[in-house]
Amino acid sequence: VVEVRNLFKSFGDLKVLQGVDLDLHKGENLVVLGKSGSGKSVLIKIMVGLLKQDSGSMIVLGEDVASLGVKALNKLRLNIGFSFQNSALYDSMTVRENMEFPLVRNVKNLTRKEITMKIEELLDSVGLPQSIDQMPSELSGGQKKRIGVARTLILEPEIMLYDEPTAGLDPITCIDINNLIIQIREQYNTSSIVITHDLTCAKMTGDRQAVLLDGQFKAQGSFEEVFAGAEDQRVKSFYDYNF
Ligand code: ATP
Ligand code: MG
Repeated sequence: VVEVRNLFKSFGDLKVLQGVDLDLHKGENLVVLGKSGSGKSVLIKIMVGLLKQDSGSMIVLGEDVASLGVKALNKLRLNIGFSFQNSALYDSMTVRENMEFPLVRNVKNLTRKEITMKIEELLDSVGLPQSIDQMPSELSGGQKKRIGVARTLILEPEIMLYDEPTAGLDPITCIDINNLIIQIREQYNTSSIVITHDLTCAKMTGDRQAVLLDGQFKAQGSFEEVFAGAEDQRVKSFYDYNF
């Protein structure tokens, strides 16, 4: 569902992506690792058309993202759920209002009642049915993340992009979020990219791991292949640091 070929992106003299090749297959959870500043967020921003590559191709759900006009891009984005690095809830809105927000243009033509049912179902699946009328300020960090994920799911995207879903959470809440990511894949048959620094998260959620180093995916494969068999010292140190 995503095909990245020989993708380059620089900002002035700063070379970020230098010939990235990557595939995301249907129904797969792919984990992307790489140190801070390596270009992980840039890669998924190109995926959703928030940034444009310098060269190479980014094909998402059969569409060449860089060539799309505004209308086609908006249509494609409806099929991509993007869970931001911070959970990005609107502080002045209740959970219900936050969840309704992606539906403002009501592209799916849902009735009021259908919208409420959808919100209740999603809050149930993230384990927070009682939070519907709460304000974000009344929620913990992990609860906000889960609401953020639930809000993303309201448009029933085919692809989910999670940018550091467990950052800043305690280990137990991390495991809850990881289970949620796994459960969403089972329940909605989404294909996902999970960006993380957390190897427990990587191991739990990833069918496949890809490590971004010097602007390319140098190591790709199962958790064991990538980390147990690591030849690159930097991939090894990623592992050693975590365990
Ligand atoms: P982190 O793990 O800290 O989130 P990351 O791998 O997601 O890091 P990116 O956000 O992709 O890192 O950024 C990669 C590099 O590109 C950084 O050096 C960043 O400063 C630079 N960069 C990102 N976006 C822009 C932009 N719009 N303009 C200029 N430089 C940018
Ligand atoms: Mg980032």
